[in-house]
Amino acid sequence: MSGTKVLVAGASIAGPALAHWLHRRGAEVTVVERASGLRPGGQAVDARGVTKEVIRRMGLDAAVRAARTETAGAYTVDADGTVLETFRADDDGGDGYISEIEILRGDLSRVLHDDTRDAVEYVFGDRIAELIQDADGVDVTFAGGDRRRFDLVVGADGLHSALRAMVFGPHERFVRHLGHVLAFYSVPNEFGLDRWLLDYQEPGRSACLRPIQDATRAMAMFSFTSAGFDVDHRDVEAQKRLLRERVAGLGWLTPRMLAHLDDTPDFYLDQVAQVVMDRWSSGRVALLGDAAFSSSPLSGQGTGLALVGAYLLAGELAAAGWDPAAGFTAYEARMRSFVEANQEIGRLHAHSRDVGGLDAEPDAEWLTEVIERAINGVDLPDYAGVPDSGARITSPSRP
Ligand SMILES: Cc1cc2nc3c(=O)[nH]c(=O)nc-3n(C[C@H](O)[C@H](O)[C@H](O)COP(=O)(O)OP(=O)(O)OC[C@H]3O[C@@H](n4cnc5c(N)ncnc54)[C@H](O)[C@@H]3O)c2cc1C
Repeated sequence: MSGTKVLVAGASIAGPALAHWLHRRGAEVTVVERASGLRPGGQAVDARGVTKEVIRRMGLDAAVRAARTETAGAYTVDADGTVLETFRADDDGGDGYISEIEILRGDLSRVLHDDTRDAVEYVFGDRIAELIQDADGVDVTFAGGDRRRFDLVVGADGLHSALRAMVFGPHERFVRHLGHVLAFYSVPNEFGLDRWLLDYQEPGRSACLRPIQDATRAMAMFSFTSAGFDVDHRDVEAQKRLLRERVAGLGWLTPRMLAHLDDTPDFYLDQVAQVVMDRWSSGRVALLGDAAFSSSPLSGQGTGLALVGAYLLAGELAAAGWDPAAGFTAYEARMRSFVEANQEIGRLHAHSRDVGGLDAEPDAEWLTEVIERAINGVDLPDYAGVPDSGARITSPSRP
């Protein structure tokens, strides 16, 4: 059946990517985003292995490459700035620590939105307030007052997903805090940064400066350990206070980076957490991206999981003739082990930060296998025979 009406909650990465594929497969798509516009900001996100193939199939390779950070590599430094270690972007065939395709999260979100905005209905500044499913559809009441009926609803509304809480149960049941907090914001590039990322670490805390496309600015990043996390994810002032408190006394360029905290346009801070669920669907509602299976920023693969998951979710639904039970089950069967490998990487990375390296060196063969599974361990069917209106060739998007 074509013309299946799908509502997607969240317009960051997973939402617009899913909108692209649903539209190509013949669905009518509405995306509702709680923020009043696309949210800027965030650290660079990476596209490795199979994710690059999904971007290619979306016809967005040129647009994504045009918006890359073009980071040449990373130096770890001591408190005086002396280089301790060097990682190059072309290490490991471009799929290493600094990947060949690295793009700021906000820029990737803009590329995905530009690509879909003419074909998909975007509703900003609203959210799902209530949702009632029956055998044939889902009645949705929006916070702004609208009531509409859809065939399917997908939550791509991130780690703190309201849809997940509404349909599957409270956050505490699914969100696993990994003991770290990360903060990112842009600062003037008064540090002479030139295509190389600088990373400074002390036990339990780190500071990092990353070059971005706009050479007059740089992205500051801090991380610190924290057994719990009870700051409201919407209270930016409380988050800034927490950051100042927890990185006080941290060496290197920290005081100069903190001096720009009050005037940055794009502050983001959140706990490093994973979402672990037995199922990603219930009836006519499914979850995608961080809402379903956050692997945490420390896996470096949250965006990859969202893009690959969007391809598979739309493909499997269309292949199943838009039958939710069959489509959602097939999507989950294809994604599960890929997600688990990436969550394993996220946990290993968090643990290595806790103890300043991996205490018991994991078996090298096992580690290589997990990394390979995390980057490439998922099949991408070509869905021959499933409707596909084709990729729209868009010109590379510019800020
Ligand atoms: C502003 C921002 C900055 C980020 N920075 C980083 C970073 O620096 N490093 C990193 O690794 N990851 C970062 N992330 C997370 C990263 O984007 C995801 O891990 C990954 O790309 C998967 O994306 P997602 O679309 O599933 O979730 P997210 O990127 O978290 O997007 C969820 C979207 O849903 C929207 N939303 C939330 N609640 C509702 C609701 N009730 N109704 C409708 N919409 C809703 C949010 O505003 C957001 O646009 C950031 C996310 C955001 C939103």
